[in-house]
Amino acid sequence: MTTKAAAAKAENHESSMFEAVLARLDVAAKIYGLSDEVANILRNPEKQVKVSVPVMMDNGKVQVFEGFRTVHSTILGPSKGGIRYAMDVCDDEVKALSAWMTFKCAVANLPYGGAKGGIKCDPRKMSVGELERLTKAYTVAMADVFGPTKDIPAPDMGTSGREMAWLVDAYNKVHRGNFPAVTTGKPVGMGGSLGRDAATGRGVMVATLAALRKMDLSPKNVTCAVQGFGNVGSHAARLLHEQGIMICAIGDHTATFWNEKGIDVNAALRYVKDNGGVLKGFTGGTEIKNTELLTSNVDVLVPAALQNVITEEIAHEIKAKLIVEGANGPTTPEADVILNDKKIIVVPDILANGGGVTVSYFEWVQNNYGYYWTEEEVNAKHDASMGSAFMHVWNFSQKYNTTMRIGAYITALKKVEFGIQAKGNY
Ligand code: NAD
Repeated sequence: MTTKAAAAKAENHESSMFEAVLARLDVAAKIYGLSDEVANILRNPEKQVKVSVPVMMDNGKVQVFEGFRTVHSTILGPSKGGIRYAMDVCDDEVKALSAWMTFKCAVANLPYGGAKGGIKCDPRKMSVGELERLTKAYTVAMADVFGPTKDIPAPDMGTSGREMAWLVDAYNKVHRGNFPAVTTGKPVGMGGSLGRDAATGRGVMVATLAALRKMDLSPKNVTCAVQGFGNVGSHAARLLHEQGIMICAIGDHTATFWNEKGIDVNAALRYVKDNGGVLKGFTGGTEIKNTELLTSNVDVLVPAALQNVITEEIAHEIKAKLIVEGANGPTTPEADVILNDKKIIVVPDILANGGGVTVSYFEWVQNNYGYYWTEEEVNAKHDASMGSAFMHVWNFSQKYNTTMRIGAYITALKKVEFGIQAKGNY
């Protein structure tokens, strides 16, 4: 399909995040020659569950929250995907993220399908007690959906190991046993894996280095901007910095900073730790606008915060030669076309941020095995897995003469198609 045709296709799907997933699926399916039957299976999630969760708030009043879980596919194994706490969580977003998980797990060569969940809430405005009650009530409501061999959650935006430990506790009480493998991303000492916390950022680093090798660029001569300084962004910035890449811009929802001589990433990490987790007030750079980070004069751009930040308008202004998508869905389908025309290499989310789910898989293996690995073992297995996923996608994008994003979709479609054909139908 030509770039123009792909753009037209993408335009028809502009209205929602799930439609954006379908836009990419359509393009990849056409290039790869996927059958309509398989495409149709993938266009429709297997299961969508919505629950109302009443929670006793600290003020003594009961508030009802909306909770979601979508299982997109279990073709290649139990479904896997995070749980997000945010005010904009909705059916469409959860559906889109669940489909991405199917493709992400397939690209990472894991024996998993895809799912995603979320609760519409503002965790920053809730007390620890309220969050614990909400998490446990949501888990009880989803107790028949989740399961170590059925559907395995993990943290996402607004959740962390703390919520996963609460989830295990509630699940154990409902099912009367000990089931650490029901979720991943747990704290170390509660069945969590060493290396899981930094894994997504580590995967971004491995993918960046692999892409720079293809571009014949040495990390020591490369500058980078990272949007988002949470789990993914902060570890990615630290690990890229450790590889000799100069981090010139960082930012979060409170402030964005630029330093042409390089941000002292370790100082920023210390600052965030001591200042309630946010960058506001950091003095290691000049304050700039959030969008200026995306269009700043750097070689590598790592969006690691929100979806849909690289729009058509921003894409025209981007100066980076390489974009490595730490966040899920940071680039719109319309922007993809422009980036491709500008010959900017985009390592897509379903490959670039697959390090987290890869180490989640290692955590699940360790839980099932009852035997735990050292951090060095986890990191070595992770790096090998991410390196091989990158090469797979790169080779497909060359073979089909397409972008890495479509190459990644083709990689996933091939595996899921095999699963569908091997299992057969009723
Ligand atoms: P997080 O909650 O730990 O951090 C999010 C960061 O984004 C914070 O620094 C926040 O301040 C920043 N942010 C929020 N709004 C912003 C704005 N308007 N402008 C700039 N920055 C803003 O979340 P996370 O786990 O780091 O996830 C970030 C992205 O990576 C999400 O898209 C998530 O789905 C994706 N992801 C996360 C993981 C994981 O293992 N945590 C794995 C794969 C993908």
